[in-house]
Amino acid sequence: MKIIKEGTPQPRADTPQKFKCKQCGCEFVAEKGEYDTYMNFYDFRTELTSYCPNCHGYVSKEAFRTVVTDSRYI
Ligand SMILES: [Zn+2]
Repeated sequence: MKIIKEGTPQPRADTPQKFKCKQCGCEFVAEKGEYDTYMNFYDFRTELTSYCPNCHGYVSKEAFRTVVTDSRYI
């Protein structure tokens, strides 16, 4: 498939994502396959969810709408 004109940037499901656990304070990076992406139909935000490698708690955050190129978020 070839893109002729690019649309609005969407959250990429294959980008490593940085999470911070609100329960124990652990910060970690989840690779593709280690986190899930889902649409919250209540407010139409896309959220990323994963599990803390330290306390195994549920962690979620709002997805960035643009492609992540800033190393602070990777
Ligand atoms: Zn934790």
